[in-house]
Amino acid sequence: MKKIIIVGGGAGGLELVTRLGDTLGKSQQAEVTLIDQNAYHLWKPLLHELATGVLDEQVDNIYYAAQAEQHHFLFKQGSLININREDKHLFITDMNGEQLTLDYDILVMAIGSTANDFGTPGVKDNCIFLEDQNSAIKLREILIAKFTSFCSSIANHKNQEKDKIQIAIVGGGATGVELASELPAMVETFGVCGHNKMCSDLLSVTVVEAAPRILPALPEKTAKDITKTLEKRGIKVLTNTMITKAESDGFYPKEGDLIKADIMIWTAGVKAPNFLKDIGGLESSRSNQLVVKPTLQTTRDDNIFAIGDCASALQENGRPAPPTAQAAHGMAKICAENIVNMLKNKPLKTFVYHDKGTIISLHDTAQGVVTLVGSRQMGVKGWIALQIHRLLYRMHLANLLGFFKTLRFISASKTMHKVKSAAIFSSRNPINSDLTKRK
Ligand SMILES: Cc1cc2nc3c(=O)[nH]c(=O)nc-3n(C[C@H](O)[C@H](O)[C@H](O)COP(=O)(O)OP(=O)(O)OC[C@H]3O[C@@H](n4cnc5c(N)ncnc54)[C@H](O)[C@@H]3O)c2cc1C
Repeated sequence: MKKIIIVGGGAGGLELVTRLGDTLGKSQQAEVTLIDQNAYHLWKPLLHELATGVLDEQVDNIYYAAQAEQHHFLFKQGSLININREDKHLFITDMNGEQLTLDYDILVMAIGSTANDFGTPGVKDNCIFLEDQNSAIKLREILIAKFTSFCSSIANHKNQEKDKIQIAIVGGGATGVELASELPAMVETFGVCGHNKMCSDLLSVTVVEAAPRILPALPEKTAKDITKTLEKRGIKVLTNTMITKAESDGFYPKEGDLIKADIMIWTAGVKAPNFLKDIGGLESSRSNQLVVKPTLQTTRDDNIFAIGDCASALQENGRPAPPTAQAAHGMAKICAENIVNMLKNKPLKTFVYHDKGTIISLHDTAQGVVTLVGSRQMGVKGWIALQIHRLLYRMHLANLLGFFKTLRFISASKTMHKVKSAAIFSSRNPINSDLTKRK
């Protein structure tokens, strides 16, 4: 039986392995295995919600082992370290730190991307990235710890700029803007959770962008509207501001004064992990992505595919498909069909990226564009935009769980959030004991 291994159970990899498990795995035409360094999946576009306590990793995740059991594939937790293409071997480190060698006939690389600091001095040491579940949870813990210590020190101070918690986010793309939008609400919830002096007026959030405007993927007018929405909520937006250095007191721009910050967050771009550069002698791009043919097979090995953020799939406009969940989903679909076709000696399909639009969630509202027939774009905002944004996540869940299980998953998640309301804020810090004392 052919051995198919997919490395990376993210937006693209988990959809792909589920499709292959339901087809080739179920009919025992192939042994399908997923390798991931984590035990569970949480859709990356929701990381800012995990970081701000809107989502809970205990409730909103999908365990790989459970998904594997229900969709006829195997799961092994471990980190990919290298490939030997001649012998078709894959080297991984498992959870005990032991190195394992696995055989494959067909391999799919779907390991996503990591934050790109573009070599800016001090960023690695002083900033928090929002690149995976662990970094989102770490950011949440840092925010809660900062709010907690701030609460204990504000009693005798006046509400002046110097008395605020200062958060600076470098990168005015979707990640930075969505995270900034959630922060004032997070502080309000934190205030309700036992420290009534805490409110969003005590928060100063700045989004810093090197380009003349934020959100380059959106039309200029939409980006301007979103800038206004952010500013109305007290969030500062600094454009044309190139950061050249980060130190413990804040960000140093090329021109102008130090941007002071108690918490420094870097969301200015992504690249594929460094170890992918030339892995197994495969062709890689400047940002470490594996270069693929239109069929998503890597250029130097037809038995190795790459999809999602770690793949460089050139499009007709001469640029690679963007690193988005939308592109990862499209690639997973074509890759699954191509692997089935390959086993049946049928011709392979080509991947073409269709931009369906971009919606930015702004806590209780959203704004963006959707692509209509004939690639015309239409602006959407408010409740409708928020529903479309949520629909994207629900469609991802439906691809993994099926329609009816998705309904049950969403309803269970809503119930758990109601039951555990604000538990994230009250269970991990001294405020919990404050609450107990007050009662
Ligand atoms: C905060 C944030 C917000 C975003 N918002 C949007 C949005 O609104 N819309 C949109 O379209 N896109 C958005 N994106 C981008 C989108 O999330 C990614 O493009 C998408 O997740 C890429 O899918 P992927 O399958 O390539 O990789 P990922 O989803 O990143 O999954 C990679 C998987 O590989 C695993 N892995 C990594 N290294 C190894 C290793 N060495 N060994 C084993 N396993 C490994 C990881 O654990 C992970 O499970 C956002 C990204 C972020 C960070």
